[in-house]
Amino acid sequence: MSAPETAAETTDVRALMGGEQANRVSNTKRNEAERKLNFWERIYLIEIFKGLVNTFKMMFRPSTTIDYVGTKSEDNQRHVPAVGYRGEHYLKVDEKDNIKCVACYMCSTVCPAECITIVGDETDVDQFGAQRFKAPEVFEIDMLKCIYCGMCVEACPKDAIAMTTTYNQVGTKRGDFIFDKNRLLKNNDEFMESLGLARSGKDKDGRFPLSPDGCGPDVTHGLQPFRQGVRQDGA
Ligand code: SF4
Ligand code: SF4
Repeated sequence: MSAPETAAETTDVRALMGGEQANRVSNTKRNEAERKLNFWERIYLIEIFKGLVNTFKMMFRPSTTIDYVGTKSEDNQRHVPAVGYRGEHYLKVDEKDNIKCVACYMCSTVCPAECITIVGDETDVDQFGAQRFKAPEVFEIDMLKCIYCGMCVEACPKDAIAMTTTYNQVGTKRGDFIFDKNRLLKNNDEFMESLGLARSGKDKDGRFPLSPDGCGPDVTHGLQPFRQGVRQDGA
């Protein structure tokens, strides 16, 4: 530390030193007071007994904690996430039950936490049609790294990934928080069922309320003529 250069700084340092000295004196006094504990206080038996009496008294009082998720809670005690809440992710499927993700890696590229792992695979033409070249063979999100920013959802050009309102995540080991493709598809199924929607997100009126423009599985809706044709060799 450099030496004080002005009178004001010198005064400050002295005041500080004076304060430290005062603290030392007050600590000494406190220590002296603590040394005056009598025999019974020093063996803590009475204090332990007092603590146990307090514990037993509390055991018969109504619980002050609430089951904020489960059935034991009152309606007004449950946490109901607002629309747009960013909970666990889910991977969407189209009306043919095919995963919508085209393994373009945009979500994993934009993810600031680098917690998305994708391995793309060539699609089967019979199952996916001629316009779908790729789908993820592996799609994993490390939920322990995720910061729930929602950037993956924003970046996706195919409306293939989104977030549920599920916030209560419980696991007994780290592996429980690596969400693979099956887990993310299961999230989709459970979330759609909870909202009374079909697996593809379609409602009774044939709309897709969870898709950005409501147009549903095909976000290139309106460009249908450009999607005709057959896959070329080597494409
Ligand atoms: S919510 Fe954010 S941190 Fe989590 S996977 Fe998506 S982009 Fe990554
Ligand atoms: S979820 Fe969307 S952004 Fe991510 S790889 Fe699939 S299509 Fe691309």
